[in-house]
Amino acid sequence: MGIKISNFYQGESISLLTKHHKEKVIGPLFSKTLKADLITIDSYDTDQLGTFTREISRQGSQLDAARRKAEIGMEIGRTKYGIGSEGSFVQDPYAGVIPINYEIIIFIDSLRSIEVVGQARGSSINHHASVKNWQELAKFARLNKFPKHQLVIRPDHQDHPAFEKDINNLEQLKKAFNKALKISEKKKVFVEHDLRAFANPTRMKNIKEATKDLLLKLRSVCSKCQTPGFSISRHEPGLPCALCEMPSNQTKAKIYTCLKCDYERKEYVKSNKADPGKCNFCNP
Ligand SMILES: [Zn+2]
Ligand SMILES: [Zn+2]
Repeated sequence: MGIKISNFYQGESISLLTKHHKEKVIGPLFSKTLKADLITIDSYDTDQLGTFTREISRQGSQLDAARRKAEIGMEIGRTKYGIGSEGSFVQDPYAGVIPINYEIIIFIDSLRSIEVVGQARGSSINHHASVKNWQELAKFARLNKFPKHQLVIRPDHQDHPAFEKDINNLEQLKKAFNKALKISEKKKVFVEHDLRAFANPTRMKNIKEATKDLLLKLRSVCSKCQTPGFSISRHEPGLPCALCEMPSNQTKAKIYTCLKCDYERKEYVKSNKADPGKCNFCNP
């Protein structure tokens, strides 16, 4: 028996708080998959909750920030349901060179008192440099997917308060560069990618993937109490080695857990033998 699929949100109004046009990717997926009515709320300045340009730092965790956005949206939109999304960037933990973008999107159902979280991670376009002349900046722009990915310009260093954003053509870039250079003390200009969703297509792509993950969970329903969001909470290791048949660290089963009741469901993985190359017993 597969996972039960249902749709509780057909025709329901769901608030989405965003100032950075995230509705462009979230909206079509929600209306297509859930047939829900997404209400975009852009009257609240989400930059108050934290910015990528460091003038306001985020309070609490990434999930806290996403939840806060969903709650504010529900309050303004007067809806029972709300969506909030929040992104973060870290260096690739293995190679250390490629920036990784981690996106989460939360759905709050105040009627059932549940929260369902979708997530995605992917490489991202997030670079910075210190430049001394226009040629250096033009080269940086050319190599870093400008103007599709927008840039932020400021004098001297990454924390200088006089920055220019919403730069999406060469003419604007040159203007911002000249202005920054003029007030710079060290005759240097700091350039970095604008990480706001609408200014960064790679981020937008990851938000789309996180939304797909969320929708998959939202449509999966507990067969005992009918609560949506019935999804994988943990993996059970112990898949037997193909050679010596001892239990390995590889996943044997995925455990689905209900957000409301105690019902769990175990789904065994398709392959029933683990790769001996990763076995702790016969291939130490
Ligand atoms: Zn349940
Ligand atoms: Zn083995």
